Amino acid sequence: MLKVGITGNIGSGKTTVSKIFEILGVPVFYADDAAKKVMVEDAILIDALKAEFGDESYFDEGSLNRKHIASIVFNNEAELAKLNAIVHPAVFRAFDNWVAGIKNAPYVMKEAALLFESSSYKMCDKTIMVTAPLELRINRVMQRDNLTREEIESRNARQFSEEKKIQLADFIIRNDDTELVIPQVLELHKQFSSH
Ligand code: ATP
Repeated sequence: MLKVGITGNIGSGKTTVSKIFEILGVPVFYADDAAKKVMVEDAILIDALKAEFGDESYFDEGSLNRKHIASIVFNNEAELAKLNAIVHPAVFRAFDNWVAGIKNAPYVMKEAALLFESSSYKMCDKTIMVTAPLELRINRVMQRDNLTREEIESRNARQFSEEKKIQLADFIIRNDDTELVIPQVLELHKQFSSH
């Protein structure tokens, strides 16, 4: 089955665009939601996380001690890389299991903020990058979340640049209010469906 990865930097609209594909009947796997789920469900991951960051990574009833993990990885690239090295493979496993359960779909999609940064694009047959200018993305996220401009800019700075992702991606969807989005989605849907 064709696997299409879809990404975009903060506020680009990758989730919004993915929902349009879902309306067309395409199954979409949301990697960031899956990451939250595997953190409390995947036994291999839980053991690895406790071994790396201590038993206090989880509370007694099994929920994740986010504050503890955040205090270790915050502003520490090496520790963050260790966390990602544990979480990303678990998300890949969850994606594979999810794909195995899909029947009768012409293709499936994986929506991931860090599709290129995490190398998970290598497991996709095609990739889509959703783009919009930084100023527009900042305004969208400021309206959606209770975040300051500085917080959004700092999150954006931790992602690969749009230019780099545009080069890596097979297809671009412009979500910048200059082009209608739905026709762009329909065009790609036609291509992927006739694959
Ligand atoms: P993040 O990485 O921060 O989760 P995202 O790339 O998934 O962001 P969305 O959540 O889809 O982006 O969109 C960001 C915000 O912008 C949302 O509130 C969404 O409703 C809004 N938005 C996205 N595209 C458009 C558009 N074309 N017109 C108006 N609002 C939009």
